[in-house]
Amino acid sequence: MPLLKVLITVKTYPIPSAKYDELVCTAGVTESGDFIRLYPVNFRDLPYSQQYKKYQWIEVEAEKHRGRDARKESYRPRDETLRLLREPIPTKHGDWSARAKFVLAKRSRSMEDLKEKQKRDRTSLGIFRPREIIDLEISPDDPDWKPSFYAALKQQRLWDDRTRSKQPPRKVPWKFRYRFSCDDPRCNGDHRMMIEDWELGALYWRCVDNGAAPDEAAAQVKQKFFDQICAPDRDTHLYVGTVLAHGTWVVVGTFWPKAPPAPLFDQR
Ligand SMILES: [Zn+2]
Repeated sequence: MPLLKVLITVKTYPIPSAKYDELVCTAGVTESGDFIRLYPVNFRDLPYSQQYKKYQWIEVEAEKHRGRDARKESYRPRDETLRLLREPIPTKHGDWSARAKFVLAKRSRSMEDLKEKQKRDRTSLGIFRPREIIDLEISPDDPDWKPSFYAALKQQRLWDDRTRSKQPPRKVPWKFRYRFSCDDPRCNGDHRMMIEDWELGALYWRCVDNGAAPDEAAAQVKQKFFDQICAPDRDTHLYVGTVLAHGTWVVVGTFWPKAPPAPLFDQR
């Protein structure tokens, strides 16, 4: 089984699953900048010594998915072989270039470009720089997981000691969507894409735990996105990936280094 070396760049919000307890989609890039998806990973069940952080290099034995998950970048990892290689790559003094070297090596131009690649070779992960992030839209979503998840979880816990004491992940009662346009003449100028970034869910729950009501917490998430991640001085990129069941694209993370300063005058 091949040994993969992957720089982790994306973790999606955990979703309870009847078969695997709960699922996190983890993705990253190889040293040449090619995207890899590791799926499934039962992240909260990994021992602490294997709980990788974003922008950390890991090594893991994994095999290409067969059958149902035909996405180009999907590999099934053997959890017990997972090894953290070193500390996450820092962003010293706001310098993200050590990360960008790998993350942006195979950058796509636009969503149109990625959808074309999807048709051609089942590309299902990528990163690109939107021309403009127009809005972060928030709408109410189910406040709890579907009853079928709980039924499956209960069933599983009768048999499995490991999961018996663990609470399922908290369900975020909002849907978050980016509205953006691409830097591509083929773009219709107004995409709306769901966000499934773990970081966004974690930020929401930090606001709630600090005393914010659900709608205040959602507004605070939006504020952080516009003040920091999508601020005018940031060169914001979106990580995107497809959902297995439908091939629909969702936003799975952001990469937001400081934008290079605009030149004051033409230096020719
Ligand atoms: Zn577009």
